[in-house]
Amino acid sequence: MMKKGLLIVVSAPAGCGKDTILECAFNVCPHLHYSVSATTRTIREGEQEGVHYFFKSIEEFKKMIKTGELLEYTQYAGNYYGTPKAYIPSMLESGKDVVMKIEVDGASNIKKLFPSCVLVFILPPSFEELERRLQKRGTEDAKTIKTRVDIARIEMSFVKNYDYVIINEKLEEAVKDFAAIVKSEKLSVKRGFPTVK
Ligand code: 5GP
Repeated sequence: MMKKGLLIVVSAPAGCGKDTILECAFNVCPHLHYSVSATTRTIREGEQEGVHYFFKSIEEFKKMIKTGELLEYTQYAGNYYGTPKAYIPSMLESGKDVVMKIEVDGASNIKKLFPSCVLVFILPPSFEELERRLQKRGTEDAKTIKTRVDIARIEMSFVKNYDYVIINEKLEEAVKDFAAIVKSEKLSVKRGFPTVK
């Protein structure tokens, strides 16, 4: 019998470097597939429609909610974010491993829908460093950065609900940690094991 795919849910406060870690992790673990979310936030430089997000107007997003197209959704820093319903269940059924990158409330909703998913939290080395990284990124104004750092302080109290935590002090180490989590979860007996003939 084919094993179901692994669902890895990654949460991290903005500026923790989760996008970079995941980009590198996808190179190291090419079997991983990314669940692209829908959002009403404006597109950032370097982002692509359908790759980083499905960028929607508020009206379009509300329509997706109404027509039941989302597995879960939330509001974060003034924008809507949601996980399309179509992708994850079919990928897992066909044995594909999926990574999703969502905030803490979304992660807890996904855990209820997919109890065997693995929850990974990425932490910055410090709040000071977090603020510095957000300023360096230069994609948000001072007010938005403050909002995101305030949210980060709240989000960090959710670490205890997660299965694994990675501290992003050195990118290379954080990527190795992520790959190690994926590898050990793939080897876990919980997910089924072959019989030796
Ligand atoms: P950003 O604007 O920095 O790309 O994302 C802001 C926050 O929204 C991040 O914590 C990100 O993980 C989260 N997020 C992205 N997509 C989704 C989603 O589909 N559902 C939920 N609940 N959160 C999401």
